[in-house]
Amino acid sequence: MQSPFSKDPFVLSIPSEREPTFDLSPGEGDALSSSVTQFKKQGDGPESVRWIGNATCIVEIGGVRIMTDPNFLHQGDHVHLAPGVVAQRLKDPAFNYEECPPVDFIILSHLHADHFDDLVAAHLRRNIPIISNPHAVAGLAEQGFTSLAALNTWDAVLVRNEVGAVCRITSMPGKHTLGEHPHGSVLETIPPVMGSLIEILGDGEDVKYTLYISGDTLYYDELKEIRVKYPTINLALLHLGGTTIPVINVMVTMDAEQGMQLLCALNPERAIPIHMDDYDAFLSGLDDFKKVVEREGWGDRVTFLDRGEAYYFSRTK
Ligand SMILES: [Zn+2]
Repeated sequence: MQSPFSKDPFVLSIPSEREPTFDLSPGEGDALSSSVTQFKKQGDGPESVRWIGNATCIVEIGGVRIMTDPNFLHQGDHVHLAPGVVAQRLKDPAFNYEECPPVDFIILSHLHADHFDDLVAAHLRRNIPIISNPHAVAGLAEQGFTSLAALNTWDAVLVRNEVGAVCRITSMPGKHTLGEHPHGSVLETIPPVMGSLIEILGDGEDVKYTLYISGDTLYYDELKEIRVKYPTINLALLHLGGTTIPVINVMVTMDAEQGMQLLCALNPERAIPIHMDDYDAFLSGLDDFKKVVEREGWGDRVTFLDRGEAYYFSRTK
């Protein structure tokens, strides 16, 4: 099969027919119909972001359906985050991978087991288009995935369907760890990360709505560049949790305070926290962030979703 990605410039062409997201054995797809009905048909109704759990979301825009960071392990399952570092899942995803609706493509922030788990690696359709960073794309190619786009920071992919341009996905800066790490240290094995920006495009490719996803980053000064390049962000999804590597006790994702620093730096119109309370390595939970949001007067600009719940929005311009 020909790759749906073309290069220079990067374009992803979405076919009109959707294929299943996961390879299912006969009978397994029976549960699909019930979960599919909650997703809108092409061009029908407002856009939405549905939080499935951890950093997994389903984004519906302009008839295109995107999944982020697929993680379908269950409560009690374990993931390896680094050599000798294991985390246990504490919350189930909103549905099982067998019930996942067909999606057009995947945006993967990085190749870490709580963002792309063994279940997903085993069952995800090999030719589903995946947009990620070069490190993750190399790993995915080794696993037999064939439709891959590797973005360096600020690189973009234009997504088109039969009607025309739908959105542009741009790689945003992000760092899972900061500073230098001695060779052989646990931190050296933590994979590089990208954030992403989804710009919904109107006729003539003008930007109608901007959705930012932080990826598993810590807060650091270079993230302020995002606002310089993109002064208007309509919605920001923040990977929080204050993920902490045990024994060495080093934090590798934003906690509540850093999440607030990023909000102040980017000034999105609205924010939704995700990637919290899902694993036991996440030490900064929802209550933590709620307190900081109230303290800093952001209460009316932050939406808290339950797993499985969607936030609906309309194009602003
Ligand atoms: Zn990670």
